[in-house]
Amino acid sequence: MKKCDYCGKEITYFEQYCCDECQRKTLNFYDFQAKFSKFFGIVNGICVFGIPIGLFMFSLRQSIGFTMISLSVLILGLMIVIFPFPVENMISSMKLKKAVSVTRIIGAVLLALGIALVILDFVFFLKF
Ligand SMILES: [Zn+2]
Repeated sequence: MKKCDYCGKEITYFEQYCCDECQRKTLNFYDFQAKFSKFFGIVNGICVFGIPIGLFMFSLRQSIGFTMISLSVLILGLMIVIFPFPVENMISSMKLKKAVSVTRIIGAVLLALGIALVILDFVFFLKF
């Protein structure tokens, strides 16, 4: 059985979406993604690099390394919550609606972890 590209509801072979609403939401999503994918990619790239660099710095100066790692995780989580762009195979297996929610949950977990790390950072390393 074919499924709606947005919500995953079963549909006939002649359709791509179950309703106009799903089609509209899908188009909106791809519009939004097209507008921000470059920005998202650049910021994510920096954060993903920031984690290993932070780990390296941690071995030299713990406070600097830890701050870098915390901020990288925090910003990465925030970016994913604001711009929940799932990878292609997630979209094809879960359909767009679910893939976006799962991606946003992953972002929220990273964001929570980032906040916890920043708090730890303040407690242990940044004593003014
Ligand atoms: Zn639908």
